Amino acid sequence: MDKIKPISADINFQYSCPHCDNTFWLSFAETKTENYIAVCDVCQKPSSPTLIKNIKVIFDNSHKTQEESQDAEEETKMPKDIYDTCVNSLMQYGYTNKEAKSLVASVDDPYVWHDPVQIIKECLSKTNV
Ligand SMILES: [Zn+2]
Repeated sequence: MDKIKPISADINFQYSCPHCDNTFWLSFAETKTENYIAVCDVCQKPSSPTLIKNIKVIFDNSHKTQEESQDAEEETKMPKDIYDTCVNSLMQYGYTNKEAKSLVASVDDPYVWHDPVQIIKECLSKTNV
């Protein structure tokens, strides 16, 4: 059977109002937004969620044979053609082949792996830190 992995996610978090105990939901996008203010529907008081930086998805490979799980590990890596495109683009920005490879390999968010532009943006933002 074809194994599939998600290409996008819709994740929500439930919170409890510190003033009246009303519960409400915030999306992952909202909880990633700096200075996001949630206003309680019941008491109208504002509160601000602790920022959530990232969520890690761990796939269950436990019931595969060793050979299969090695294949699965290969699958989770960035597609080779996109990897090569990104390495080449970074070299045009003046990085050495080695620097470019390690930068591209450090992009560990599978949700951007189909998008070389996003990968390069992330690589460049890492070097500005
Ligand atoms: Zn409230």
